[in-house]
Amino acid sequence: MKYKVDLLTGIRPTGNLTAANYLGAVLPIIELQSQGISPLVFVSDIHAITDKEPDIVKEHIYGIVADYIALGIDPQKANIYLQSDIFGEVTTLTTLLARLVSVAELLRVPTLKDKLKKNAKPEMANSLLLLYPVLMASDILLNKAKKIPVGEDQLAHMEITRLIARRFNKKYGEIFPISQALHIKSLRILSLKGEGKMSKTNPSGAIFLTDDLKTVARKIKTAETAVEGEMNKKLESHILIAKGLAKTKSECDEIDSIIKEHKNGKPVMGQFKQTFTLIAQNFIEDFQIKRSEIIRNSSYVQSILEKGSQVAKRNATETLDDVKKALKFN
Ligand code: ATP
Ligand code: MG
Repeated sequence: MKYKVDLLTGIRPTGNLTAANYLGAVLPIIELQSQGISPLVFVSDIHAITDKEPDIVKEHIYGIVADYIALGIDPQKANIYLQSDIFGEVTTLTTLLARLVSVAELLRVPTLKDKLKKNAKPEMANSLLLLYPVLMASDILLNKAKKIPVGEDQLAHMEITRLIARRFNKKYGEIFPISQALHIKSLRILSLKGEGKMSKTNPSGAIFLTDDLKTVARKIKTAETAVEGEMNKKLESHILIAKGLAKTKSECDEIDSIIKEHKNGKPVMGQFKQTFTLIAQNFIEDFQIKRSEIIRNSSYVQSILEKGSQVAKRNATETLDDVKKALKFN
C-alpha cells in the first residue's frame, strides 16, 4: 500500500492561541518542516463542532490559518486545507468505517472517558464525541497519511485508526496503509499562576499570542516563581516559555545566566521577569505584525486554502473510489 502524504496534522479553529499551543503543537511541526518534511495541515472545523457552535467555529478559520503562517508554517511547502471543503468525502468514509469498530471499543477510548467524567454523565455529552476517533480515522485514511504527530492523549485515537485500517484490509482487500503515530515529545507548559496547565480556558494564567504588550507584562509580573536558591515546576515552565519564545541565542544565554545566579541564592527573580517580559513582548509584537498583514489579505488566505483543498479533494476522491469498489458499493 502506498502512502499519499508523509505527514498529516489537524488544527482546531476554536480560539486564539496561547504560548503553550505554539510551543507544544505548532513548533514541532515547524521543526519537522525544517527537516524537509512537507506537512499536509487541515483546519478541523468538523471536529471542532463536537463542542463548539458551528458559527463560532467558522469565525475562527481564517484566523487560525493566519496564526500558523505567521508562526512559521511555510505555505509554499505545506498544503493547508479546510476539512469541511471535503465534507462529503469525510462523512461518507466516516459512515463506512464506523461499521468496523464496536460501540464498546469507542467507549473505552480514554479521552472520551475523561470527557464523560467531566460532564458528569453520558446524557450530557453529544454523540459526535463517541464518533470522534472514527472521524479522525477518516481524515487520515482519506489521505493515506504515513505519519501523524500526536501527543500522549491522542495515541489511543491513532490505535483506533490502525485497527479500522487493518480490519478493512483484511475483510475487503488491501486499500489502506497502516499509519503511524509520530510521538512528539510531550511538553506541558504550566499556567503562569502555577495551578494546572496553561490553557485557553484559563485566560488569567495564559499568555495569548493576541494579548497586547501591557497585558503580557502584567501577567508575567504576577507569575509565581521560586524562592532564592530553589527550583520548582512553575519556574522551570517559565524558563521553557522564555527560551522557547526567544529569537536569539543571546536572549537564551541571558535567561541561563540569571537562573544560574538564582540557583546560587541571589535575588534575581525581578530581573528574570523583566527579561522574560521583553522576550515575550518581542515575540508577540513580531507575530502580531505578521498576522495582521496576513489577515488583511483575505484573498491570500483563501488561495492557500484553495490550493490545499485541491490536494485533499484529489486524495479523498481516489481513496473513496477504491473503498467503494472494494465494498462493491459503487
Ligand atoms: P482548551 O483549554 O480549550 O482545551 P488548550 O489551550 O488546552 O485549549 P487545545 O486546543 O486543547 O488547547 O490543544 C491544542 C494543542 O496545544 C494540542 O496539540 C495540545 O497538546 C497543545 N497544548 C495545549 N496546552 C498545552 C500546554 N499547556 N503545554 C503544551 N502543549 C499544550
Ligand atoms: Mg486542551
